[in-house]
Amino acid sequence: MPADLEVLVVGAGILGLSAAYFLAEKGLPVVVLEREAPLACTSDKSTECYRVFWPGDEALAALVARSLELMGAFAHVARPNRRGYLYVGEEESLLLLAQEAPHAGPLRVHKGVSTYPREAAWGLDLVRSGAVGEVFPYLGHLRNKAALHVRPAGWFSAQGLGMGLLEGLRQMGGKLAYGEFLGLEREGGRPRYARVRRGTGEALWPFSLLVLAPGPGLPGLLEALGLELPLVAEPHFKAWFPDPLALFPREAPLIIWNEPQEIFTAEEKALLREDEELAPLLGPLPPGAHGRPEGEGFLALYNPFPIGEMPRGCLPTPPPWAGEVALRGLFPLLPRLPAYLGVRPRVDGGYYVRTPENRPLLGPLEEGVFLAGAFSGYGVMAALGAGELLARWALGEDLPSWAPSLTPGRFQDPGYRPSAAAAKAQL
Ligand SMILES: Cc1cc2nc3c(=O)[nH]c(=O)nc-3n(C[C@H](O)[C@H](O)[C@H](O)COP(=O)(O)OP(=O)(O)OC[C@H]3O[C@@H](n4cnc5c(N)ncnc54)[C@H](O)[C@@H]3O)c2cc1C
Repeated sequence: MPADLEVLVVGAGILGLSAAYFLAEKGLPVVVLEREAPLACTSDKSTECYRVFWPGDEALAALVARSLELMGAFAHVARPNRRGYLYVGEEESLLLLAQEAPHAGPLRVHKGVSTYPREAAWGLDLVRSGAVGEVFPYLGHLRNKAALHVRPAGWFSAQGLGMGLLEGLRQMGGKLAYGEFLGLEREGGRPRYARVRRGTGEALWPFSLLVLAPGPGLPGLLEALGLELPLVAEPHFKAWFPDPLALFPREAPLIIWNEPQEIFTAEEKALLREDEELAPLLGPLPPGAHGRPEGEGFLALYNPFPIGEMPRGCLPTPPPWAGEVALRGLFPLLPRLPAYLGVRPRVDGGYYVRTPENRPLLGPLEEGVFLAGAFSGYGVMAALGAGELLARWALGEDLPSWAPSLTPGRFQDPGYRPSAAAAKAQL
């Protein structure tokens, strides 16, 4: 690696900043190239949740667990809580999920509140059907459902973490530059220069190493580089509702409805049938509606039929029904929420860029070029482990055993069969 040249990181989202931070920590001169404002794209739109709970995917579990270890150094800005994730649904399917996630710690099963460990930080607590209301009074109406409380989980300030990374990077001499990465120029077959638009002109920027972390810019960027990887970019939205009636329990974990559901009554469906765009919402919808308290209100998320598209910019435009669908998705969990039908929520969102098996593209792309992309719905919780791992790849250091299973190169192996396991636990 030419020592006099800079390491160029494309993208000042949380993944680019994390990679830059860990590369600068190794003593390398790092510049982050960003075409907009830092941390203003997808990383600004997340629900800011984390979980060490990846049924069937030990590699993702290890990546997130490592990220949480590293978060210790950023705890003053990231301020993680340990509220957990609470999956609610049929006991049998929750038990299966739990059995596929040994990395989350021991499974404890409860028939009543007396054995339930309120303050546990580790493990999984399965509250059997019939006992859910005793432990979580706000779910008391769900007499035939069970609840799985995932303890190594909660939420944190992703903006705080991102700003902490940026500040740390600056203190180590790293820089932020404004400009748009357009492509690569080669010398002797090896990538040597980044073609960059700055202001009205273009320039060639020599680099020692290049890290691509363009978030939703990834599909377009791969196209520009003539590379093909199996990817989709799905718009996902979240809605924030004010809660003047205190209908969403302030003390709740992130609550997830783990059952299929219908969100409209027969009468409502009859009225909506005319509108073609709404047709997919009228049938049974998959599990996954979720929400959590936030400030004086709550966040609601339900994206039951995301359709991939080529991102033209950083952020997708929410359809007019996104907020109401997210609210209705939570009705089985909190049956007084219909009181908020007609309230206008604050809706925003971003792209989940993801691979078929929902694993990231993290590692070498070709000599001197590395990729940190396709972090789907878990990029802020995985950012620190990903940045550290990328720096290790770049410097040829020892890697954890699971690192090769996340590389873009896995798709070049004709024997590689993407496992559906990780796709199961996406939210
Ligand atoms: C609604 C929603 C909820 C989510 N909830 C969670 C959650 O609870 N927990 C979690 O862990 N994750 C969550 N995520 C996912 C998480 O937000 C993303 O995985 C993560 O933010 C991706 O970070 P990034 O750095 O890859 O992308 P971004 O934050 O999008 O950053 C990419 C940057 O690259 C820049 N860029 C792109 N192309 C170029 C170019 N050619 N030249 C220069 N700059 C370029 C962009 O301007 C942008 O600033 C959620 C996502 C959404 C949409």
